[in-house]
Amino acid sequence: MAFESLSEKLQNTFKKLRGKGKVSEKDLKAAMREVKLALLEADVNFKVVKDFVRDVSERAGGAEVMESLTPAQQVIKIVNEELIKLMGGEAEKLNIASKPPTIIMMAGLQGAGKTTTAAKLGGLLKKQGKRPLLCACDVYRPAAVKQLQVVGGQLELPVYAEEGVTDAVGIAKRGLEHAVQHSNDVFIIDTAGRLHIDEQLMDELKEIVREVSPTEILLVVDAMTGQDAVNVADKFNSELEISGVVLTKLDGDTRGGAALSVRAVTQKPIKFCGMGEKLTDLEQFYPDRMASRILG
Ligand code: GDP
Repeated sequence: MAFESLSEKLQNTFKKLRGKGKVSEKDLKAAMREVKLALLEADVNFKVVKDFVRDVSERAGGAEVMESLTPAQQVIKIVNEELIKLMGGEAEKLNIASKPPTIIMMAGLQGAGKTTTAAKLGGLLKKQGKRPLLCACDVYRPAAVKQLQVVGGQLELPVYAEEGVTDAVGIAKRGLEHAVQHSNDVFIIDTAGRLHIDEQLMDELKEIVREVSPTEILLVVDAMTGQDAVNVADKFNSELEISGVVLTKLDGDTRGGAALSVRAVTQKPIKFCGMGEKLTDLEQFYPDRMASRILG
């Protein structure tokens, strides 16, 4: 379950704090030390943890908290608010183009869940009354085109593909023309991933961006890889100017380090999260719901 181990540790800390009638400065310090440790063990970025604990301590150490009738409750409330802030505050909706189609480019490393997420997102938008077209531009992994066709088919979404063609940029351009001709108001491009970020991958993605000007560039990262996911997001963002992040496999991520760091490190919102292998397991990312999940 997402955030399970972090949640357990924080809840223990706050249980101890609530057990005390009055919270002394020493109690607060001890609690903050535990929070810091719990976040580090959850693989949250070191600087993010430092800033977070500093901000919470500053707010919680004030007289109006410490001298209130329910200091422990106040501290928990502050932690909750700061967790929400850390994950981006308000939920950030998908950008929709004023003139259709809305063009969404999915990027990410191989195995992150790009192809699955492209289809899931198409399914989600279809449910909202849109008419998405998926476009298979992951031309280097032979099975990827087929995979997109299969998952697209399961959701009854049309897929634009060109068998045997390896010019991803051309496929994206022609796919877009196809979308316009067929009144598809959302065009979702599944791009190639690599095991590592390399220049060729970035060049191809940049070329697609130049040619089709996406409304959204969504970077798909695997939450279970923790700080690696954050580093990948940081690198992609500096090369490509992503517009948002999709965190996949959050269902299997008991720690939560990526979810809690990626926004602060990249300054880009987490827009969706993958919560399972089923094609309906994609949700809008709500920072407040995630914070509630953590604090129980
Ligand atoms: P790609 O190489 O980035 O296109 O990755 P795929 O879309 O092929 O996904 C790789 C694996 O991750 C597949 O087995 C997916 O079913 C799985 N996957 C993707 N998203 C999620 C998710 O949110 N939760 C879980 N549990 N598995 C996921």
